[in-house]
Amino acid sequence: MISQKLFLFDFDGVIVDGMNEYWHSSLLAFEKYLNSPNVIIDQNLYKQVSNTFIEMRPWVKYGWEMLIIVHQIIKREDPLNNQTKYDFLNRYHQNCQKVLLDNSWVSEELQKGLNDARKYQINKDFDSWINLHRPFYEVIDFIEKLKKENIKTGVITTKGRIFAGKILKKLNIVPELIFGYESGTKVKITSNLSREFEIMGFIEDRRNTLIDIKQNALTSNIPCYLADWGYLKNTDRIKLPHEIKLIKLDSLEKLLAI
Ligand SMILES: [Mg+2]
Repeated sequence: MISQKLFLFDFDGVIVDGMNEYWHSSLLAFEKYLNSPNVIIDQNLYKQVSNTFIEMRPWVKYGWEMLIIVHQIIKREDPLNNQTKYDFLNRYHQNCQKVLLDNSWVSEELQKGLNDARKYQINKDFDSWINLHRPFYEVIDFIEKLKKENIKTGVITTKGRIFAGKILKKLNIVPELIFGYESGTKVKITSNLSREFEIMGFIEDRRNTLIDIKQNALTSNIPCYLADWGYLKNTDRIKLPHEIKLIKLDSLEKLLAI
C-alpha cells in the first residue's frame, strides 16, 4: 500500500517569529481581561519587548505561561530581571504553578485572557496584528516545494488553532492539516497521524517535544528535526540525542532528498 506522505511543522519559532506578538498580546490580556493588583499597564511597555522575556521564551510550552512570565517581569514589587530570571528558570514549572496559586488563577483563565486579547486585535485591526509576526520565508518556500512533490503539510501548534490558521492564510500557506492545543499533546496528534500517513519529518523548536516523540513507540520512527532558528535554550544544541537532527534554516532543502 502506498500511503500519502505528510511533513509536520511546529508553528511558533518554526514558521513565524511571533516574539512581538507574544509580548503585545500578553500585555493586552492584563490590560483588558485579567486582574492583578500587582501590575499597571503603562502604554510605554508596548513599545519594546523585554529582553528578559525574550530570553525566557524558550522555556514556554503553552501560551498561558507567557502571561506568567510577563506578569513577573512587569509587576511592581520584586520584578523578574536578567539576574533573577535564573532562579525562576531553575524551577520553571514549580514557579509557574506558584504564580498561579499566589494570584488565585487557573491556567485556563490565563489562556482565555490571551485568546481574548488576540480576538480583540483581530477584530480591531487585523493587519496590525498580523504584522507583529515575522515569517521565516525559507520555511514558507520549503512548504511550497513539498506541495510540488505532492507531500502534504501539517502544522501542530500549542497555540489556538484559529489563530495559527489566520496567520498561515495571510502568508498564503494552506496546510492540509492544522492542530492547536485543543487537539491534545503533540505525541497524541502525531500517533494518530502516523496511522494514516507516512510522516516524512517533524520540524519543532522544543527539544523535549521531540524527545517525547522519539520515546513513544507509535511515533519513534518519525524523523525529528530541531529548528536551529527557533526559540532554543543554549543547552538545547548540546548532546542532542543522535536520533534528533539539528536543522538550519539554509539547509531545509536537503530534507527534500529524503
Ligand atoms: Mg515552537
